[in-house]
Amino acid sequence: DAELGPAHPRWIRVNTLKSTVDEQLDTTLKGFEMVRSVQEVMASGPTGKKVICLDGHVPNLIAASPGVDFTKTEAYMSGAIILQDKASCFPAYLLDPRPEDGDIIDACSAPGNKTTHLAGILHERGFAPGQSILAFEKDKHRAKTLDRMVKTAGSDKVTVIHPGADFLQTDPSSPEFQRVGALLLDPSCSGSGIVGRDDTPEFHLPSSATTPSSSSSSKQPNHTKKRKRAPSSSSPSPTPTPNPTQTLPPPIDDSGNENHPTSPQTLHARLTALASFQLSILLHALAFPAAHKVTYSTCSVHTVENEGVVVSALRSDVARRGGWRVLSREEQVRGLREWPVRGDVVACCGEGGGDGFWEEVAGACVRAERGDGRGVMGFFVV
Ligand code: SAM
Repeated sequence: DAELGPAHPRWIRVNTLKSTVDEQLDTTLKGFEMVRSVQEVMASGPTGKKVICLDGHVPNLIAASPGVDFTKTEAYMSGAIILQDKASCFPAYLLDPRPEDGDIIDACSAPGNKTTHLAGILHERGFAPGQSILAFEKDKHRAKTLDRMVKTAGSDKVTVIHPGADFLQTDPSSPEFQRVGALLLDPSCSGSGIVGRDDTPEFHLPSSATTPSSSSSSKQPNHTKKRKRAPSSSSPSPTPTPNPTQTLPPPIDDSGNENHPTSPQTLHARLTALASFQLSILLHALAFPAAHKVTYSTCSVHTVENEGVVVSALRSDVARRGGWRVLSREEQVRGLREWPVRGDVVACCGEGGGDGFWEEVAGACVRAERGDGRGVMGFFVV
């Protein structure tokens, strides 16, 4: 908690599987003064006042005064509220899972913030009969935390956990994946956007990290909408590069990585290797035959892990053949469409600019900047 710093709001996602915003306002948050902006919430820190505001971008999300500890509350212990940074709530909300989407894959799940968020959104809409969330987690130890969080959040009946399973080893053509319509990808990253971390992060490179070739994904989506293709020139060729949140007492960092200072050279080499792994996760997801929407996110501030991966994916054969494109800002869910911080234009277009296509890609990317007064961690999602 101390790591969040004196001005960082406490973000509370109300778990709609177990509670409602109104119920939490009447119980856990009783006595808190309701203010209009997150800036007022942040400013309340030094005054010791207990204030809250309802978030204007993500439903069922509340910002509370910095420094207030909710980890001992009954609501937190019972899974009625989840302490999850606002930016970390963007991916599941942007993916916009619906009953008609079939099964939903969360490829890199532990500790389970986004898995349980997907379940909460689908619970409000009503799960289709037999519809499941398939949650993969390669690390067996973290998979136990995932299992605990999913049970506490009350989403265990709709979530199938694959403990110790490497998403990259799944066969998209397998019968169990034929109904997978949407995938949430939140792979391990440098964690450089996490509040309380320094800017020279270290990470554990996944052992399966390789430089994926465009031909490595032979299965092509055959139920995807055909869309405008990425131009093959007039954009830079960024090296593909290398993702947070928290859970039960005490809140757990969801970057999947640890943070140790490192030299710039080491950092560069590691970011390059991590980006390669992240790109392989993204390309693998695009090969699921019934998949029609995918979110890719990191809690990294580095363009190589973010826009760089997106540009490389769009230029890949698997994306071209499958007709994949980015969901434009105008098409995004309300709240994220209005979110002002967008992708890095130079990382998408190169210094010379593009023909408009890559500028649109940058505009479709959603960024969150740590310390910019909006009370969020550093984050990226597209
Ligand atoms: N989405 C999680 C959340 O919001 O709580 C955070 C995920 S964390 C950034 C990345 C996770 O992916 C780590 O727990 C890591 O062990 C797992 N992971 C890394 N490579 C994987 C792979 N190939 N297959 C499945 N899980 C993987």
